[in-house]
Amino acid sequence: MKIRHKIAVQFTVLVAVILLVFCVVLHWTAETQRQQNIYSLLQRRAATTARLLVDVREFDANLLRLLDKNSAAKLPNEETFVFDYKDRLIFATANRRPAYLTKHLADDIRINRTVTFQDGGQEVVGIIFTGQYDRFVVVAAATDTAGRLQVRKLARTLTIGFWIGILLTVGLSVLFARQSLRPFQRINQQIAFITARNLSWRIAEGSNRDEIADLATNFNQMLRRLEQAFRQQKQFVSHASHELRTPLSAMKTEIQVGLEQPHSLEEHRQILANLQNDTERLIDLSNGLLQLARLTDNTVEALAFEPLHLEEVLLDARQEVKQSNASCRITFDYAQLPEDNSSTLVQGNATLLKNAVVNLLSNACKYSPDRQAELLLGFDATHCIVTVRDKGIGIAAEDLPHIFELFYRAQHTPVQSGGFGAGLSVTHRIVELHKGTIDVKSTLHQGSEFTIRLPRS
Ligand code: ADP
Repeated sequence: MKIRHKIAVQFTVLVAVILLVFCVVLHWTAETQRQQNIYSLLQRRAATTARLLVDVREFDANLLRLLDKNSAAKLPNEETFVFDYKDRLIFATANRRPAYLTKHLADDIRINRTVTFQDGGQEVVGIIFTGQYDRFVVVAAATDTAGRLQVRKLARTLTIGFWIGILLTVGLSVLFARQSLRPFQRINQQIAFITARNLSWRIAEGSNRDEIADLATNFNQMLRRLEQAFRQQKQFVSHASHELRTPLSAMKTEIQVGLEQPHSLEEHRQILANLQNDTERLIDLSNGLLQLARLTDNTVEALAFEPLHLEEVLLDARQEVKQSNASCRITFDYAQLPEDNSSTLVQGNATLLKNAVVNLLSNACKYSPDRQAELLLGFDATHCIVTVRDKGIGIAAEDLPHIFELFYRAQHTPVQSGGFGAGLSVTHRIVELHKGTIDVKSTLHQGSEFTIRLPRS
């Protein structure tokens, strides 16, 4: 069921219930009022009849009956009966004796003084009239034709009013629901046109500041994020293929050269060494991409995090860089750390953290003519602080904001330095996964300083 139909049905049911309760209460009040009116009228009639009969000497039963017969104010089927204390019927305006006139009723009236009830279509009232020498039971009955007619008319009017009200409510609620849901329909239509090809489209947010505008704004924000993710993915694929093509083309050329003409053993050795270099570059590239892909996808949640002593991770990283690059000299100063090494305890994944530091140390060596890097470990109240410093080529101010972007390489970076701009992206992501931060300070031709801050365990 569509929401607008649901709203219309719920609204109609609600109004129907309210109208019904209103009609029932109104009808009940009118009926109660009618009964009270007729009972008090009959009570007055009964008292008057009894007074005339008992207290007024000039009136006898025949005169009273005559009066009653010719009274213009007589109600339909009106009849009055008077009984003395011995339950003898001493006066009656009707010839018949109704079934309700029983000894039990007379006793009831004597006990309760006033009794009212309905018999067939008649309202009946019984009262006690106290005369000079006796107590009389007076019973008056009549059919309240006019009153009943009025209540019936009211009931008819209420029924018609109820159905008109329901019809109006159905119509208005459908109209109202359609009107209120129109903005959603508009948003829906706009959303239907958005595909992966036109993620730059935005839906109209309107000028109102209501829930619908919030929905549109949030949806647009989601589109913005999706668009960004798509753009990054596209960039990633094009960069990756470009980066893969360069060593592959170089390898192809070297193989062609090797095949074209006879070469000396030394030349063959050189070609094979070049091929080996390019193959290593390809392996590095695919490893970097693989690592980045692993770090970005959901399997990150499954990574094992445990308490680590950061100095051990840094020593491992230094060892690894030295092994792969013998010319690199790394000083690691952790002598100032206190005996109690709980201050360098962090919650993390040793392999990932080691990779992050290895990337920084390799860069520091790679981009420093003296192949020297400085590694420092410190801490404050909340964080462990790892610093990698070099006195190398430095990074220009305009490059600094981009160096953590995938495949970004600073403009002045020497081509022969190798690398393809993925290392810092990986490091950044690893630090992010450890809820830490990474900052860089650098001056061109003077050197760079990378600082990682990791929450202490
Ligand atoms: P790669 O070193 O493979 O190019 P990275 O992602 O590790 O990729 O670094 C991105 C870029 O940042 C490098 O190309 C280089 O221009 C710059 N960079 C990183 N570290 C340093 C450093 N210590 N000194 C100077 N430039 C650096």
